[in-house]
Amino acid sequence: MTKIGIDPGHGGSDPGAVAASGLQEKDVTLAVGLDLRSRLQGAGLEVVMSRTGEADVSLSDRAQLFNREQVDLVVSLHVNSADTTTANYVSTFILAPGGQAEKIAHAIQPELVAATGWPDGGIREANFFILRQTDAPAVLVEMGFISNPATASLLATAATRQSLGRAIYKGLAAYLGLPPDVPVVPADIQGNWAEAAIRRVIAAGIMAGYPDGSFRPDQPATRAELAAALDRILARLK
Ligand SMILES: [Zn+2]
Repeated sequence: MTKIGIDPGHGGSDPGAVAASGLQEKDVTLAVGLDLRSRLQGAGLEVVMSRTGEADVSLSDRAQLFNREQVDLVVSLHVNSADTTTANYVSTFILAPGGQAEKIAHAIQPELVAATGWPDGGIREANFFILRQTDAPAVLVEMGFISNPATASLLATAATRQSLGRAIYKGLAAYLGLPPDVPVVPADIQGNWAEAAIRRVIAAGIMAGYPDGSFRPDQPATRAELAAALDRILARLK
């Protein structure tokens, strides 16, 4: 089974780059990372996250985790920042050309450009720690510039974060030969005691999440909702 390492940049006491609006890079990278995780898991892949919430995780701990877990590839998520407010492009970084990381970057980068409409900063090379210290092929995505006020206001929205997660998923899916789109598993079932069961009933069409993308696993069902779900099972049995 393919195992993917997702590395939401920064976190905890390290906010990453901060927008004039107060938006922090660490919150954007985590939201996109959790969205990407849902999609990859929905496609049946195993995911290792360097963090799933507010946590201080050093760069070496991140790399060591991915190496210990023997992930097949790593996607590190960041948002760029510049001294000017006008810098505006999306880019994917690799350590060096010629390997699998470059192929992954070539799969992801056009999806990011298509999804955001931001100028194409292309595939770039950089000697970033996470690219250098992971055994698996690794790419680092700089999802626009938080120093650009228009970009920052987009990055604050759930819609843009989901669209970035979907774009990276589509790129990885193309690289791995997976379906280009999968039903998103609601984020609020992650870690729930019944997560596996909820995934199966969603996949089978017996229950569904709410339009806002949540499942609200602890919300009581009415007798009518229970009857509707049982009726869908009856229909399957016929
Ligand atoms: Zn960063």
